[in-house]
Amino acid sequence: MSDKPRHFATRTIHAGEQFGVADNAIFPAIVTASSFTKRGLDDHPEYAYSRVSNPTRHAYESCVAALEEGVGAVACASGVGATATVLELLPKDAHVVVMSGVYGGTFRLLEDYRSHSAGLTTTYVDLNDLQAVSAAIRPETRLIWIETPTNPLLHLVDIKALCELARERGILTCLDNTFCSPWNQRPITLGVDLVMHSASKYIGGHSDLIGGVVVAATEALFKRLRKISMAVGAIQGPFDCYLALRGLKTLDIRMERQCANAMHIARFLESHPQVERVYYPGLESHAQHALCQRQMRSGGAVVSMRVKGDRATVNRLVEALSIFVLADSLGGVESMINHSWSMSHNSLSPAQKEAMGIGENLLRLSVGIEDHRDLIADLESALEAATADT
Ligand SMILES: *Cc1c(COP(=O)(O)O)cnc(C)c1O
Repeated sequence: MSDKPRHFATRTIHAGEQFGVADNAIFPAIVTASSFTKRGLDDHPEYAYSRVSNPTRHAYESCVAALEEGVGAVACASGVGATATVLELLPKDAHVVVMSGVYGGTFRLLEDYRSHSAGLTTTYVDLNDLQAVSAAIRPETRLIWIETPTNPLLHLVDIKALCELARERGILTCLDNTFCSPWNQRPITLGVDLVMHSASKYIGGHSDLIGGVVVAATEALFKRLRKISMAVGAIQGPFDCYLALRGLKTLDIRMERQCANAMHIARFLESHPQVERVYYPGLESHAQHALCQRQMRSGGAVVSMRVKGDRATVNRLVEALSIFVLADSLGGVESMINHSWSMSHNSLSPAQKEAMGIGENLLRLSVGIEDHRDLIADLESALEAATADT
C-alpha cells in the first residue's frame, strides 16, 4: 500500500480505525455495552467501561481526527458539551479572549455559568484586529476562542496570523469549525491547537442528531481532553456516534453540492433588485474574499441577506417559501432559512442586535443539496410575493 496521504473524500470513507467487532465487517457495529469483561485481575483490555472508551465512539472519533488532521478526537453529547469539555482545560480564574459575535450558546456558557463556577473572565474582540487582541491579553489569559465564519454575518478571522500571535504569547487556541466542517477549513493546519464542532450541523448532516466533537493537535492535549471527557462524562452515546460516522461518509459530496448551490444562490441574490445586501465569503464583493480564498476551500454553504423592506416583508417572504424551511439549525441536506432577529439572536435586546449589524430584514440561508435551480426559483417567487405591494 502506498503511504502517500489520501485525499479528503477517500479519508471520509477509510481514515481512522473504522472496523467492526467482526474484523471483516465493512462498517463498525453499534456497541451498546456499558462494560466489557476481563479474563483475570491482570487483564487490561482496550475497552473496559463505555464512559471511558467505546468501540463505536472510537471509530467515529478516529475518523474525525484524521479529517481535521489532528492526533485524536473526543466525541461529546452536543456542541456545547464539547465547548464545556474544552473549558475544563483552563485553571480557575483564567481569562479568555473571545471572538465578538460568537455563537450564543458559547456566550451563555461563559457568561451565565463559567464566570460563576470557575471564575472565568472574558473579553470579546474582533479577532482580526491583532492590536485589539494584544491589548486584550492579560497575564492570566489562557485561551483564545475563535469562530470563523461568524453567524449570521459571515465575518472571517485570519486564523494563521492570530495563531502566530497566540503561540508567541503561549496562549491556547480553540476554533469552532461548525460552519465550515473539515471539508471547507482545516484549522489545525493553520496553527490552531483545538478544533470544536457541533456535529449536529454538517458532520451529522441530516438534521437527525445532536452531537459535538473536539479534535486536538497534539498528543499532550489529546491526553488531557480524554481524561476530562472521562471525568466529566459529557460523552456521545454509541447510537449517535454511529449516525455521525454514517453522516461523515457523505460529507465530501454533500459539502461539494451545498457549497456550489450556495454560490449560485449568492450570485442570484446579489443581482436581485429586492435584495439590499448579500453576505457570502465566496463572492468577490465580500470584504474578506481574499482571506476566504487563502484559508477556506469554498465560500461555504451559508448565505445571509438583507432584503429591502421591513419585518412584514420578511414574514411574507418566509411564508411564501415552499422548499426552504424556517428552522433554527443549519448544515442539513435540506435547505433552511433563519430569521436571526427573532430566532437565533432573540435573547438580545433590539439595541444589542442593531449594534451587531443584525436588522429585522436579515435572513440566513443554510443551503441544502436540492437542485439549485429549484432553490433559486423558490427564492425568486417568494421575493416577488413578499415585495409585490411595497
Ligand atoms: C449549533 C452550534 C453550536 C452548539 O452545538 P449544539 O450541538 O447545538 O450543542 C456551537 N457553535 C456553533 C457555531 C453552532 O452553530
